[in-house]
Amino acid sequence: MEVLLNNFTRQWEVIRDDVLAGVERVGASGRYILGTEVQHFEAQLSQLWGMRFAIGVGNGLDALEIALRAAGVRPGERVLTTPLSAFATTLAVVRAGGVPVFVDVDHSGLIDLDQCHQVLQRETSIRWLLPVHLYGHAVDLEALEELQARFELTVVEDCAQSILARSGQRPTGTVGKVAATSFYPTKNLGALGDAGAVLTNDSSLAAVACALRNYGQTSTYVHDHLGLNSRLDELHAAILTSAILPHLEDWTSKRRAIACAYREGIKHPNITIPPAPPHSQSVWHLFPVLVPAPLRQSLITHLGTNGIQTGFHYPRLIPEQTALRTTTEFEVFGDLANARRFTTGEVSLPINPFLSETEVVRVIDACNSWRP
Ligand SMILES: *Cc1c(COP(=O)(O)O)cnc(C)c1O
Repeated sequence: MEVLLNNFTRQWEVIRDDVLAGVERVGASGRYILGTEVQHFEAQLSQLWGMRFAIGVGNGLDALEIALRAAGVRPGERVLTTPLSAFATTLAVVRAGGVPVFVDVDHSGLIDLDQCHQVLQRETSIRWLLPVHLYGHAVDLEALEELQARFELTVVEDCAQSILARSGQRPTGTVGKVAATSFYPTKNLGALGDAGAVLTNDSSLAAVACALRNYGQTSTYVHDHLGLNSRLDELHAAILTSAILPHLEDWTSKRRAIACAYREGIKHPNITIPPAPPHSQSVWHLFPVLVPAPLRQSLITHLGTNGIQTGFHYPRLIPEQTALRTTTEFEVFGDLANARRFTTGEVSLPINPFLSETEVVRVIDACNSWRP
């Protein structure tokens, strides 16, 4: 049997009854949009995250766009961000009218805060920072907070991969003005479809985000903003509440145990496991390893032959994507050499809560038996 990156068949066996109960509840309620299920899920999520407000939206991309707009980004303002992430991170900046400014990543693959510091010292007009807590690691929040204070930045945190991750004692998303997350099915808290949320402690920002997800409507038929239609569905909220949220802590522990086994077990001169950032209590949304670029295909083939699926996160730098190059304004600082190490040499190993112990051992053995 193949060892899969994600195993929705096994997940379905675990969640089936609770999903059906959630669907039954919504069906019987006759209320499908912005009802009590969304309210209930938002309350649970904000409590779990330790934030005052959670606003359920249609997906992670919209969550980021709404977060940026609600925080007040204005057309043409520059937003410092990472070239190594889901394209949605940058797309949200562009859709909100901002100009993405890329700096390199560090050895963990997350935005390099020292480089941010250098850029911000030179480019004093940059007021926005959008870090991504990539792979389930937490960006060093103390360093982020210092940067935020020193340069009077508005920070929007992309927590699509970092639900429950902490830096020291603090959850990701709690340093900036606002955070965005995604419940895309593969994420650590995955819906059975598209969904996302905006999180903040700022009540006026939360009110604007609430309006923006619903055509910019502030009260019935009163539109103060040019908003989106990006409401979290009652169905998704009910499923998340009944069938997914109750497992989150257990599933996160399983990811951590697998990461621990990989870190102890994988010993190969050509395979490097990038370090987690200082103080990161990671939730291992992904498990990236690095190999020399010319050897990458050999590892993927070897693992494939042993029935192990692999992924890339990510195979192309965002500023090198055609959509960006041909249509929008953006800036790049430096040569992005570290980010390029990841686009050319990264391989993602299977890490999901449904892997058996034997499968974890199979992955480790397959890595160790690789003869490039
Ligand atoms: C998944 C993801 C997004 C986008 O979320 P969607 O729900 O797919 O729109 C944004 N940023 C990061 C880092 C992601 O992993």
